[in-house]
Amino acid sequence: MHQQLETSLITASTRGDYERRTGAVNVPIYLSSTFHQESLDSFGPFDYSRSGNPTREALEKTIAELEGGTRGFAFASGLAAISTSLMLLSAGDHIIMTEDVYGGTFRFVTEVLPRFGIEHSFVNLSNLDAVEQAIQSNTKLIYIETPSNPRVGITDIAGIVEIAKANNCLTFLDNTFMTPLYQRPLELGVDVVLHSATKFLSGHSDIIAGLAVTKDELLGSKLGFLQNSFGAILGAQDSYTLIQGIKTTSVRFEKSTETAISLVNYLANHPLVEEVFYPGLSSHPGHEIHKKQAASSGAIFSFRLPGKAATKIFVENLRIPVFAVSLGGVESILSHPATMSHAAMPKEEREKRGITDGLLRFSVGLEHVDDLLADFEQSLEIVTTHYKESRSLI
Ligand code: PLP
Repeated sequence: MHQQLETSLITASTRGDYERRTGAVNVPIYLSSTFHQESLDSFGPFDYSRSGNPTREALEKTIAELEGGTRGFAFASGLAAISTSLMLLSAGDHIIMTEDVYGGTFRFVTEVLPRFGIEHSFVNLSNLDAVEQAIQSNTKLIYIETPSNPRVGITDIAGIVEIAKANNCLTFLDNTFMTPLYQRPLELGVDVVLHSATKFLSGHSDIIAGLAVTKDELLGSKLGFLQNSFGAILGAQDSYTLIQGIKTTSVRFEKSTETAISLVNYLANHPLVEEVFYPGLSSHPGHEIHKKQAASSGAIFSFRLPGKAATKIFVENLRIPVFAVSLGGVESILSHPATMSHAAMPKEEREKRGITDGLLRFSVGLEHVDDLLADFEQSLEIVTTHYKESRSLI
């Protein structure tokens, strides 16, 4: 029987033997590093928890089902999922990386992979001609992040997949900002879907976790081999916490998105705000493409204030959101990408990508929309007053 994804959020993790035998509605936390074997030459389904653990397996099956894949893998962080998946490449290979990429991914690709002979080019993936021109004879991967962090840029997934397939390249897609509920890259032909599950999937800013999903059986077994070989697996307790978080993803995400739309409309009409980046705005250059490939405009937006001094006053006078690295929690989170998520990127690379000192990223939580609007309003009012008193502040 076909069922909706919202139903799978609840049922996917609770179909194991243990739940069937005991009636437990939650997956048990198997705190066991090793597993007793009954025979000398035939082993049971688990032997050692780096290679496989029943709680982690329930999570891995859940994310595979949600993404429409065949294999899911849980890692100790989003970056562990990304870096382990990048080990599918070999010395001499070349990657086309999206220009607008999470700072930690940028750091791994620019500072670690070159030491292993893996090259890269950063390309604006919204320009399909530029992608085609950047293909080299040794290009093996096109790496997509859509919507991207922090400028919420949009890439045409099907367009990139078509170029990749014509050139025998794999595609990876970081689906952190959309979750499998609202964007389904495997259905568009992407090979590996990645998540920082630290964000919307866990949803409560309590754990660091990463997920990867594949559809192709051979690619899945290669990634499974790498997960065990590199060993950056998610522990059983965090696997349980993530399973519980995943169950409420749709209600959290939909509520936060509704609030995001109100905040974006408010900011887009505020005289101090220079630019607002949100794929739900019809003025966003990726609006139509995003509408075609995703079912929600999302709970993250970024916006630009006139400069560092104005940004500092705004941040320090806001009362409700936490000012922190990260996103996707029940609490609204305001971040300053230039000094936080993208601090690993050299200043000139950052500014080339529009990550200036006035750029702020906002992840909408579950607070009441009226309170968040009032908070933005009072803080922008303070900036305006300072602005009137001293033009040099801006
Ligand atoms: N991908 C995106 C889009 C992110 O925003 C982040 C973290 O902020 C990561 C990957 C890395 O994930 P983690 O912090 O769980 O390692």
